[in-house]
Amino acid sequence: MKYNTASIPNVIEQGKAEEIKRSIARSSKILITTHLSPDGDALGSALALSHYLARQRKNVRIMVPNSFPYFLKWMPGADNILIYEYNKGAGQATIEKADLIFSLDYNIPKRVGEMSSFVEKSRAKKVLVDHHLDPGEIYDVVVSHPEISSTSEIIFRLLMQWGEYEKMTFEEAECIYCGMMTDTGGFTYNSNDPEIYEIISLLLRKKIDKDAIYSKVYNNFTEERFRLLGFTLSQRMKIYPELRSALIWLSKEDQSQFKFSKGDTEGFVNYPLNIRNILFSTFIREDDTLVKLSFRSQGSFPCNQFASEFFHGGGHRNASGGEFYGAFEDAVKLFEESLPAYAAQLKNSDI
Ligand code: 5GP
Ligand code: MN
Repeated sequence: MKYNTASIPNVIEQGKAEEIKRSIARSSKILITTHLSPDGDALGSALALSHYLARQRKNVRIMVPNSFPYFLKWMPGADNILIYEYNKGAGQATIEKADLIFSLDYNIPKRVGEMSSFVEKSRAKKVLVDHHLDPGEIYDVVVSHPEISSTSEIIFRLLMQWGEYEKMTFEEAECIYCGMMTDTGGFTYNSNDPEIYEIISLLLRKKIDKDAIYSKVYNNFTEERFRLLGFTLSQRMKIYPELRSALIWLSKEDQSQFKFSKGDTEGFVNYPLNIRNILFSTFIREDDTLVKLSFRSQGSFPCNQFASEFFHGGGHRNASGGEFYGAFEDAVKLFEESLPAYAAQLKNSDI
């Protein structure tokens, strides 16, 4: 049976969609890249596009800068993803040989870490498909839609504009759904656009099991991870009621007590927003070589501005991140000293 995609308007400039299609036709080695610490949307968009390209009998590889959380390993094709950090020499050769490079779910080369200089040097045609603000200038084609809540949704729209919805496979639909779901916290933020649900309805026609996908991603804590969450919320959380803000933090030592593994703290930053009257949540985590910060907000409070002003970061209005190079305690201190600068906005924002 044919299903109608007509209620979903074309938002990607048709000229760009066609140019990308021509570039694919001309290319023999295609590389898809995505950002450091790949999340569900990064992997969902990359995998969906790679499945489509493989169906076109294209030679396509996905390479990500570093590993990704265990609760995303079920995604179809995840086993074949190259992880640059594990074999940098081979990774560099793969980048050099590519004649078309897709950059998905990130806006500037820096977001692929050490891989960035090789991607920048490459003579391949470079196509950016992303939903972060301020796309970089090294790309030959830029499909940038900050108003769309996930890159996976943009990939759906690209395939649709190419007239490929009918042929879209179950695996492609699963990957797209997973990316749309994770970048909206299971459709709890950035998710009021009615077209999201029209697209979900079209993905369900491909027989995806959205409830099972939710469970595989969210109801999949290890016991240690679940206890780490409990510890963080009870022992490592501070509330600033006047500033309607919350901070959670974990040092290296804290993490080691719970057999920490990659992705274990994914989503922790969202929990303090469950507290009434809290609209800004920050998570500070000590990593091997840096201190990583995650920010989440509700309503109009722009946590990405806070991230870029104090922590060399950025992202979306309600979900952003940043970095700090120095002692863990100093990162916490800088956060506490910086927060009052936003006092007026925090007090006056409506949720
Ligand atoms: P998360 O807190 O899940 O790591 O990141 C949330 C959002 O913030 C992501 O969409 C990501 O694009 C952005 N983000 C995270 N870390 C950084 C960073 O260090 N720099 C910039 N510019 N954006 C970041
Ligand atoms: Mn994304």
